Amino acid sequence: MALNIEKIAKSKISDVDFSNLKFGEIFTDHMFECDYKDGEWQTPQIRPYQPIAFDPSAKVFHYGQAVFEGMKAYKDKNDDIWLFRPDQNQERINKSAERLDMPAFPKEFFFEGLNELLKLDSQWVQKGEGDSLYIRPFVIATENCVSASASTNYKFMIICAPVQAYYAGEVRVVFADKYSRSANGGVGFAKAAGNYAASFYPARLAAEQGYQQVVWTDASTHEYLEEAGTMNVFFRVNDTLITAPTSDRILDGVTRKSLIQLAEDEGIKVEVRPVSRQEIVEAAKKGELKEMFGAGTAAVISIIQGFADQDQKFELPVMEDSYALRLKTRLTGIQQNKLEDKFNWTY
Ligand code: PMP
Repeated sequence: MALNIEKIAKSKISDVDFSNLKFGEIFTDHMFECDYKDGEWQTPQIRPYQPIAFDPSAKVFHYGQAVFEGMKAYKDKNDDIWLFRPDQNQERINKSAERLDMPAFPKEFFFEGLNELLKLDSQWVQKGEGDSLYIRPFVIATENCVSASASTNYKFMIICAPVQAYYAGEVRVVFADKYSRSANGGVGFAKAAGNYAASFYPARLAAEQGYQQVVWTDASTHEYLEEAGTMNVFFRVNDTLITAPTSDRILDGVTRKSLIQLAEDEGIKVEVRPVSRQEIVEAAKKGELKEMFGAGTAAVISIIQGFADQDQKFELPVMEDSYALRLKTRLTGIQQNKLEDKFNWTY
């Protein structure tokens, strides 16, 4: 496969304070890009990270025809770099693209581009506790035309940001009962840019009430608990973990599906089924709700300390035998090549 590479003259890495990074603000030396025109993907290239210019009429600015992914690379003690189930992200970006009527990006371009980019920027993958490189592939519509129809031209890119362990502080959530992030037949299962834009306003209203995240409910009845902010959500009722099934409203999270397998491997009972707010409220009242946590690439597992269902507020206990902590230790151990990967997830 042809890939044009233009290396940076002088790395920016010595300017970076790796002990003081804000999530996703600093980017590595290089970026990968590939344009789609005349019905095909052109020769991809890697060049120094820099701003890119677009015509103001580019369709992405008007119709939000854009999809993205999020994944992480870790460096082990031998300086080998590991990705976690990157095939899942590669497949998912194409599923998202299909729903937005965008062309699939070839698998070999994705992996070749990612491999070369990580080789060039390998110094940027730090190996301190919790350090990783956040990788952001995305595709945007670049045709210069404001007619409301699918673009004929696109740009696929991968950019990378060194990040530290993601810690959101204490997390309390509120169950959504007015706004929705997705609907049946919609784009909730896709990592479509507009899904996130639409979630910011309800998230801000929740933040003003003291909640760090919204637990999204199904749009038709607001009765079923589906996702927590930009994470999938798990509930532990007594000794059973429960999480909603994926659907066209819910993102098929890589962390979620890995945790389900790990939990089963640990002998924890897992139920994948609709979870109602009423069930969770009743379990909390009876003291049977032991844990609640979000699962996603950025934080891996984010423990939820409390929740609100309309005007009822609940605090969750601090568990000695926390499933969340047990699963997080096991999953991050596999991701960082510290624990055995019997599932062949790492790459
Ligand atoms: N749900 C939503 C809406 C998300 O944006 C994400 C983050 N990608 C997730 C769930 C978790 O998915 P993953 O484990 O693949 O990061």
